[in-house]
Amino acid sequence: MSAIDTLLHPRHRRACTYKAVKPFLSKPMPAIELKYFTPPSEKERRQNIKKTNLICWQCENKVAIVGSTNTITGEIICDICAIKNYRDYEGFRTIQAAKAHRRRMFDVGYLLTEVLIDHYLNKYSLNEGELLDEEHGMLVEFSIDLQNMIPIPKKTELQNSIDQSKIEHYYQRLIAQYLKLPSKRPQLI
Ligand SMILES: [Zn+2]
Repeated sequence: MSAIDTLLHPRHRRACTYKAVKPFLSKPMPAIELKYFTPPSEKERRQNIKKTNLICWQCENKVAIVGSTNTITGEIICDICAIKNYRDYEGFRTIQAAKAHRRRMFDVGYLLTEVLIDHYLNKYSLNEGELLDEEHGMLVEFSIDLQNMIPIPKKTELQNSIDQSKIEHYYQRLIAQYLKLPSKRPQLI
């Protein structure tokens, strides 16, 4: 444990307990590389600010991107505040390190959808442009079902895994176990 760890309140040491994250408490963890999904750009943020009426209850600024919603009170906080909170609660030392680790929480989920899409495209020898909206919708739904089957400790392990090929390999096994695609492409419309 380094000197700064001893100064942190115990409830702020959660990330410090994950061995894989220890080198990334100050510097950002590498991002998960996605092919089909792109996170919102600065331009989109600015456009959202112009359109929105939502106010963050924590910083009282307009919300460009919702960071989290309190399901009981309905209060909304912006993603900038959500990242600051994530830094404090998870024991990160910089905003950039907290932001990168929090980003991975969402991106491991998107990665499962992408592995699933690739599995489907390969099965029927399709390219991305040939995937119908109905098929995409079906795959997103199935991806959510699969996500719900992954135990929480495993999800944390995936979020903390630096080797993306290992995450993909786990997803491929999950898909092989639960998805039985017919030999001919399903007719959804
Ligand atoms: Zn805020």
